[in-house]
Amino acid sequence: MAQKIVAANWKMNLNFQEANTLISEVTNILKDEKRNTAEVIFAVPFVYVYHLSNFLKTQPFAVAAQNCSEHEKGAYTGEISAQMLASVGAKWVIVGHSERRLYYHETYRIIAEKIQRALQAGLKVIFCCGESLEIRNKNEHIAYVQNQLEGSLAELSVEQMKNIVIAYEPVWAIGTGKNATAEQAQEMHAVIRAYLKKKFGSEIAQNTSILYGGSVNAQNAKSLFSCPDVDGGLVGGASLKAREFAEIVKVYN
Ligand code: 13P
Repeated sequence: MAQKIVAANWKMNLNFQEANTLISEVTNILKDEKRNTAEVIFAVPFVYVYHLSNFLKTQPFAVAAQNCSEHEKGAYTGEISAQMLASVGAKWVIVGHSERRLYYHETYRIIAEKIQRALQAGLKVIFCCGESLEIRNKNEHIAYVQNQLEGSLAELSVEQMKNIVIAYEPVWAIGTGKNATAEQAQEMHAVIRAYLKKKFGSEIAQNTSILYGGSVNAQNAKSLFSCPDVDGGLVGGASLKAREFAEIVKVYN
């Protein structure tokens, strides 16, 4: 069985004070609950990784970075390596988010390299995939996502795949308030699991968490998370509101 996961992606939001307030509020609400069954991850801006990892050290919540360099180290001014992130307490890194593919021109190859660097540094990876509206309207979304998976995961070993989580985030659903329906999400998640089975075998297919992302909120989380192949969510906007994010996590309680 795949681990259920609810991950917050704060993106480029919140100053340091606001970040501290939010993390305190969310963790306060969640700690009063009976043991949460979902793993909870906060993908925070680079500059908060060290502080928030320390803050959460004794709590059952992990910190993720939102990106890492495809290079191991060296003269890459302004870049942050996977090893640096691991050394300041990150346990996870998001790789291949559609905003990075679109605005920073990350190719399948660059994303594959980032995944290798992350795994070498001991980080677990949330690998994002998902089609644009144009591609869905042409009814090419399934082949497109299969290509994204093949383009960046094909070289991984079965052992490496144990540290990969996949997030299906249709671009048209991100930040638009227009989430995929449970049927649309389930259809693609089943396609992703079928790909994993064919490429890496049944065990990886069964045990890999496949998250849905794109306008997840406290109202729609229950129906999305109840799909058989949806193992949780990667939450953007709603993760910036303590009570709402906690509600989404509590879907699994
Ligand atoms: P929203 O939840 O704001 O649509 O963002 C989804 C996302 O991109 C998470 O990575």
